[in-house]
Amino acid sequence: MERMESNRMIVLVPLTLQGHISPMMQLGKVLKLKGFSITVFQGQFNQVSPSSQHFPGFQFVTIPESLPESEIETLGPIEFLFKLNKTSEASFKDSIAQLLLQQGNDIACIIYDEFMYFCGAAVEEFKLPSVIFSTTSATHKVCYSVLSKLNAKKFLVDMEDPELQNKVVENLHPLRYKDLPTWGFEHLERMLELCREVVNKRTASAVIINTVSCLENLSLSRLQQDLGVPVYPSGPLHITASLAGPSLMEEDKSCIEWLNNQKPRSVIYISLGSLARMETKEMLEMAWGLSNSNQPFLWVIRPGSILGSDGIESLPEEISKMMSERGYIVKWAPQIEVLGHPAVGGFWSHCGWNSILESIVEGVPMICRPFSGEQKVNAIYIESVWRIGILLQGEVERGGVERAVKRLIMDDEGAGMREKAIGLKEKLKASVRSGGASYNALDELVNYLETERK
Ligand code: UDP
Repeated sequence: MERMESNRMIVLVPLTLQGHISPMMQLGKVLKLKGFSITVFQGQFNQVSPSSQHFPGFQFVTIPESLPESEIETLGPIEFLFKLNKTSEASFKDSIAQLLLQQGNDIACIIYDEFMYFCGAAVEEFKLPSVIFSTTSATHKVCYSVLSKLNAKKFLVDMEDPELQNKVVENLHPLRYKDLPTWGFEHLERMLELCREVVNKRTASAVIINTVSCLENLSLSRLQQDLGVPVYPSGPLHITASLAGPSLMEEDKSCIEWLNNQKPRSVIYISLGSLARMETKEMLEMAWGLSNSNQPFLWVIRPGSILGSDGIESLPEEISKMMSERGYIVKWAPQIEVLGHPAVGGFWSHCGWNSILESIVEGVPMICRPFSGEQKVNAIYIESVWRIGILLQGEVERGGVERAVKRLIMDDEGAGMREKAIGLKEKLKASVRSGGASYNALDELVNYLETERK
């Protein structure tokens, strides 16, 4: 139920990449319904439009000094995040000072994405309450905590020893040290520095995390212990907010019509999220494997997501022909609607955390093909802990793709995974209903925000 709006303001600072901005804006919508006024500080790229129909009454402020998105390409993700934080710090402080000068503003709390740690400086200077928002899994956050305590040189030496590589990380079974999300060992030292910044809670007095306790109970306990502040597992926020997105790309809804003409549970939906890119060779092997499996597929091919190719048009003619006969290609799909469609039998995913939550909420089992660090951690949990998917490792070749699709869609093994996914779907839905774990966590969070600094 919508509460009367107070003049108590929550400042949200999202990292404006798709997988981060969606859960942050969903959280904003939930808090608005609980009676807070919401001000969103955004960098220079991927801004949510102030005229968006989904966020009436929200105030939007642009952080004057920030970075353009093109720098992700030039610098790589780790250096981009360092530079973004350095560039935005003073400018954000000035913007907050101005906001505080405007009469009637009472900032109840600044809630910032864990990667936007530059907010800590303004929070400290103006003695404001702050809470960190993590859009990844609790397990991933614990991995960061583990990594933050490692010495890069020693870790590299340790990882040459097979016994240490395969050692299970304490309280993170079945994750082994070699599974820790390090984003490629060549940047290890800088990666560990980033982990230290991200797990440093500065003066933040709590952490909100878009997960559900029934999925990650052990990791959540360990996280709580490591951080020493309250942790609110409040997901999946897209259900509570009744909001998919906001989508930064235009959704091609024509795929829903195509799905309407497919048999129940027959289609493999393929999406690599908003950032991952694959080699042309891997893409061709996937295409042949899918074709040989004889299952229809819906494939999201974002512009620029196939390295060395200008998109589907520049592929060999026989491939384009096969793809259009058996599959349907879009540049961006309404993913949650697709996953909820009865024709979808499986999700070939890069295993971004939002995609996983969305797939479980629709009870759809997965084929996991992770690209960068965190995604592999998620994929291991899907295959070995929740047992709702198949992890494809090593080089992708058409025979392996065909076998994986058949296992998931046609075999009893896949039916078992679907059954487990449906079981988890029920648990996730129960967790956001009145009295459920995520519902209670959100309630506690709201009480906490209401009483902070009164
Ligand atoms: N998404 C979408 N349409 C697409 C592909 C992805 O709406 O065609 C959305 C998806 O629903 C999810 C987000 O983009 O909410 C991707 O976030 P995720 O954490 O899965 O991966 P990332 O993009 O951060 O790697």
